[in-house]
Amino acid sequence: MNSKLLVFDLDDTLLLTSGVIKKDYSNLEQIKLFPGVKEFLINNHSQKILVTKGDKTIQEKKVNILGIKNYFEKIFFPLTDAHKINCFKKIIKQYPNNESWVIGNKITSEICYGNQLGLKTVLLRKGKYKTLKAKDDSEVPDYEIDKFTELSNILKCKQ
Ligand SMILES: [Mg+2]
Repeated sequence: MNSKLLVFDLDDTLLLTSGVIKKDYSNLEQIKLFPGVKEFLINNHSQKILVTKGDKTIQEKKVNILGIKNYFEKIFFPLTDAHKINCFKKIIKQYPNNESWVIGNKITSEICYGNQLGLKTVLLRKGKYKTLKAKDDSEVPDYEIDKFTELSNILKCKQ
C-alpha cells in the first residue's frame, strides 16, 4: 500500500487567522491551533508537508509560535500563487510513490491546484473564504469538512 503524503495549508486550515491576527501583527503570539490539530500531527504517521503562502518572516513566526515545525518533513513559504503551484509540482516529483492529499481552506488556491495536479483534495470550511462557491469542477474538492477533527475519518475510509 502506498503511504499517504499530506500537504497542508496553514492559515485558516491549522488555525483560524481570518479576523484574528491584527494588521500590525501585535497579537501574533496569541494564535492557537484548531482543536485536534496537535493530536493529529502527533498521532498520524503519514508524511506531512506544509505549504504556506505569504511573507516568510511572518509565516515562519506563526509556525514557531504554534510549535509545529518538527511535525513536517518540509515547509515551503511561496510568495505568490505561481510559486505555490510550483511547490506542489516539486512535492509530487519528490514523492512519486505516495498517494498525495492536500488539505486547505481555499477553493481558488490549494484545492484548485491540487485538483489540477491529481492530488486528493480536502476542503476545510473555515475563515473568510468558507462561503466561496466553486466556479467550475476545478474548484470542487473531493471531500469537504467543517471541523479539522473530521480529517482523520476521511483519510481512513479512502485507501
Ligand atoms: Mg489558508
